[in-house]
Amino acid sequence: MSIDKLLNANMEFRQEVEKLKEQLTQTKELLNSKNEELEKVKNELNKKKTLTKEEFEEVENIKKENIELKSLIIATDNKIKELNSIINAKEEESDKIKEELAILSTQIRSQESINTTILELETKIKEFESINIEKEKIISSKNQLIQDKEKIIEEQNKEIELIKNQLENLQHRKSATKNVNLHRGRVRACIKCSEYVFLHLNDPENQKVIKQFELNHKGHTIITVDLSEVKDRYRNIELIEDSEQ
Ligand SMILES: [Zn+2]
Repeated sequence: MSIDKLLNANMEFRQEVEKLKEQLTQTKELLNSKNEELEKVKNELNKKKTLTKEEFEEVENIKKENIELKSLIIATDNKIKELNSIINAKEEESDKIKEELAILSTQIRSQESINTTILELETKIKEFESINIEKEKIISSKNQLIQDKEKIIEEQNKEIELIKNQLENLQHRKSATKNVNLHRGRVRACIKCSEYVFLHLNDPENQKVIKQFELNHKGHTIITVDLSEVKDRYRNIELIEDSEQ
């Protein structure tokens, strides 16, 4: 039963009780007037001392009516008491419902505070998510930087490889030039030992070789001639040294 229906039912009961009270008052007034009437008749009777038959019947009627009115008053009183007790019970029920409503509204308020907490948590979660997105952006930009650096390193490695290849080519060309030089040019030759070394002007390395050669053949006869003059009979020390390396 809703509180509104309960309150309406109480109102109906109260109106009924009011009607009955009004009815009771009217009945009591009626009883009073009948009593007055009875008193008058009694007074008249006292004066007369004797009653006619009609007068006696009238008195009997008034007495009967009074008894009926009294029983009506008692019945109405009982009815009013009954209705009052029903109203009291209804009001107790209404109080209980009000208490329940108070409990429910407390629960609703705590639910509202839970909802507020949930909203706050959702806001925090969104903040964390945006922070994570920022972190991911930073990580991806770092990764991009690393990739760029790796590319640069790769390019530098390629460049290093290129330079190595160029160096190797240069070394090949140098030894090729050396080999070419082995077949022509001026040489320093020891007649006693039948050995020779090439003579390259403006080459510091060759200067050392020549000095060492002259030291090794100290006291021997060393000459400077064209390769063609010693080529077939003399040994080239540099060639032997090269092949030994
Ligand atoms: Zn010698």
